[in-house]
Amino acid sequence: MVAMQDLITAVTACTACKAHLPLPPKPILQVGVSSRILIIGQAPGLKAHQRGRPFDDPSGVRLREWLGVSEQVFYDPSLISLMPMGFCFPGSAERGDKPPRPECAPLWHAKLLAQMPEIQLTLLLGRHAHKAYWRQSNASITQAIQDWQANPRSTIPLLHPSPRNNIWLKRNPWYQSEFLPLLKQRVAQALG
Ligand code: SF4
Repeated sequence: MVAMQDLITAVTACTACKAHLPLPPKPILQVGVSSRILIIGQAPGLKAHQRGRPFDDPSGVRLREWLGVSEQVFYDPSLISLMPMGFCFPGSAERGDKPPRPECAPLWHAKLLAQMPEIQLTLLLGRHAHKAYWRQSNASITQAIQDWQANPRSTIPLLHPSPRNNIWLKRNPWYQSEFLPLLKQRVAQALG
């Protein structure tokens, strides 16, 4: 427990890629030693940076619907950890935000993961998490999700819940009708 607290203190003080960030570093993550579910997302957006809370936006509302969990459960680090690929807001790009800073995950992920021995389920949100943690890093998100459906395991690739993916959702109705019920079931099992 002390080791995790020390680690959180160290992450919170991190300035490793300060020179590349548009705003002063403000790492945003939620981690707990007894978490059962780990969500690896992209990086906080500007709203998350300002509010100091991840997924406090329409993407978060949709993600909680997909998982079938309340806000209370979602923001409980004894149940769910939120460890994005980049902990600080990386800045805006022409379309959406810039990618997570590449320094962040190699610097912190393995150390944090070592402090979370109870993880039953790991959810990968979006292409940066897929690339880093899905066994076929070159698979498209569609391929990765369909691959998981054919061969379910404890790491699950998900579409990022951003409203930017509404067109993909319209084109792939199986995601809501077939995949999400399975996902909800796995989440409920992991939470006990
Ligand atoms: S993005 Fe990661 S590596 Fe960069 S300052 Fe924030 S915590 Fe440190």
